[in-house]
Amino acid sequence: ERDDLLSMGERALFIEHPTDLSNRPKLNQISKWDTYWADVNKIPYTVTGPYLKALFDKAFIDGLHHPMQRPTAEEWETALLKTTDLMQQCSNIYCDQKWYVFDNTSIPKCPFCGTSHKGTLPILDLYYQFQPSVWKPENHRLMVYNNQYLFQWHVNRNIIRNEKLTAEQKIPVGYFTFHETKWVFVNQKLTSLVDKTEEKEIPIGSMVELTDGKKLLLSKEDGGRVILITLANK
Ligand SMILES: [Zn+2]
Repeated sequence: ERDDLLSMGERALFIEHPTDLSNRPKLNQISKWDTYWADVNKIPYTVTGPYLKALFDKAFIDGLHHPMQRPTAEEWETALLKTTDLMQQCSNIYCDQKWYVFDNTSIPKCPFCGTSHKGTLPILDLYYQFQPSVWKPENHRLMVYNNQYLFQWHVNRNIIRNEKLTAEQKIPVGYFTFHETKWVFVNQKLTSLVDKTEEKEIPIGSMVELTDGKKLLLSKEDGGRVILITLANK
């Protein structure tokens, strides 16, 4: 009993600690229903993506014995929402999971079934205006797939994705689609969308091609973001 208390208390150790492997799950002690997820070599916690991985590290490594260092509920919420922007559909129709979190590699593949991503993959990095001519990355990335939507909370940093959104703010402002061998964004609601690379306004009802290195200003309003496009898996 004292052993149990110690292992859950002062001697507790994250089962997926990156360097101390002594508390790894023992697969011969796991019920057959749980073996799929229990094999941490096959499916490590890092499949949850970069935002959640950082919080798991904070909670179970840095903060395990120091509760004050653990992430707040708000940090978890933000990380979960940002992670939904990293989701990609697996092209293997027999895949158990169907969707996975993009792993930030240049040649992505599904971590569950190993199927490589097919075709080019646009990655959109969000930037905010720090000073009149200084734009800074927000550590927020939006992965594109066919019929992926863009929302107000991507466009303007003053609009936060939470339960206070109005019905109007929940309506997509446009969508991404693969159109005649090109990735494009179709503008449905953005009144001041500008292709900064070609210095061209993109009016509502028209589309803009997503090309490697292109910058799009999503809104001229205060808080309006720029997205920088990278085409991965070329
Ligand atoms: Zn898969």
